[in-house]
Amino acid sequence: MAEQNKLEKVVSLAKRRGFIFPGSEIYGGIGGFYDFGPLGTELKFNIKQAWWKDMVQMRRNVVGLNAAIIMNPEVWKASGHVSGFSDPMVECKKCHQRFRADQIGDKCPNCGAKDFSDVRQFNLMFKTNAGPVEDTASVAYLRPETAGGIFVNFKNVLDTMRVRVPFGIAQIGKAFRNEVNPKDYIFRTREFEQMELEYFVKPGDDDKEYELWVDERFNWYGKIGLRNIRKFVQPKEELAHYSKGTTDIEYEFPFGWKEIEGIANRTDFDLKAHAAASGQELAYLDPDTNEKYVPYVIEPSAGVDRIALALLCDAYHENEDEERVVLKLHPRLAPYKAAVFPLLKNKPELVAKADTVYVELKKHFNVAWDERGNIGKRYFSQDEIGTPYCITVDFDTLQDDTVTVRDRDSMKQERMSISELRAYIENSLQ
Ligand code: ATP
Repeated sequence: MAEQNKLEKVVSLAKRRGFIFPGSEIYGGIGGFYDFGPLGTELKFNIKQAWWKDMVQMRRNVVGLNAAIIMNPEVWKASGHVSGFSDPMVECKKCHQRFRADQIGDKCPNCGAKDFSDVRQFNLMFKTNAGPVEDTASVAYLRPETAGGIFVNFKNVLDTMRVRVPFGIAQIGKAFRNEVNPKDYIFRTREFEQMELEYFVKPGDDDKEYELWVDERFNWYGKIGLRNIRKFVQPKEELAHYSKGTTDIEYEFPFGWKEIEGIANRTDFDLKAHAAASGQELAYLDPDTNEKYVPYVIEPSAGVDRIALALLCDAYHENEDEERVVLKLHPRLAPYKAAVFPLLKNKPELVAKADTVYVELKKHFNVAWDERGNIGKRYFSQDEIGTPYCITVDFDTLQDDTVTVRDRDSMKQERMSISELRAYIENSLQ
């Protein structure tokens, strides 16, 4: 399967089966925005849940936060975003399309002309007004990253949670960037979701903690079943002004190796900048040594939408002989963990029995129901959306409470008792 062809197939499947729709489609769409359909919503929810479980709930020293998207604009002045968060932009003088200067060659990708305007900096912050008066005093910004909310709540968390360095504050939420060229489907959009951890460490421990987090985050993708990833260490001369070191985790998309997460050693830049601008002390007092210092911070910052796209591309398999499409998602991430079928739709006793299995399993997992067509068609339909197990209730079930469980990847069928189903599915979610 040619790679570009593969992306087209993923886009088409995502649309056809309710994962991803173009934003505001009935009005002709809007560039850089997408809507997630019922199955895409489940997929993103599962990605976020896996991250939250592994990054917050399973750790002793990481707590969560949910800050407002719109913050005091001073936050973004102090962080440097208002003055410096921009991309170089050029305009094609022939067709007047605008492009990221660092992402095009010498020809306009739209019309082929070679006549560009001078490069100018384009700020990516989305501006709005808070309150009924539209003047400079009411200007506010949609956050371009979730990290800002964490830094301004550093003191609140210290004062309320009895945390001790090293500790982390994690947040998942929407971020907005007025990208010059949204492109590559949901890879680069103007509204997206981030999962960010700010991990505060003692200066001097930062290099070691940075290396640990790079490995930790790289290995996490293996745990959720994503293959074809690599680490890319950013060269010193390309580092952001606040960073002592940054490693990107990249996935091999059909359009090339691209970043899905960045892990940065942001030093004490943010806490110091916000302390200076707000006049508040943002420091840590070590209760054992009485030493006071401004912690360094290690930041793993991942994009939910980019991970969702990487997972869809990675999971997409075609079996040409059987004309079967299988989405081999890790069961933890699959929108449905199982589907329940009555063998025949017109036998009320089979439908009733299958319904009890369905209702019972639904208490524990997201489970699909299908009674249309024949079993083969139902398998086909569930394979395409990545459902790991299909459970069929037949006439034997009425006698002995056993069902047939068919595995998405091996296509093997196994007979087991209804009482074993929950543990069997749960096992696959590890
Ligand atoms: P890029 O260089 O691709 O623009 P970035 O280095 O600016 O990305 P970061 O600021 O490090 O990105 O943001 C952290 C994460 O947020 C990225 O790894 C990515 O997963 C996600 N992200 C950033 N910008 C976008 C976007 N426009 N659309 C979707 N996800 C994004």
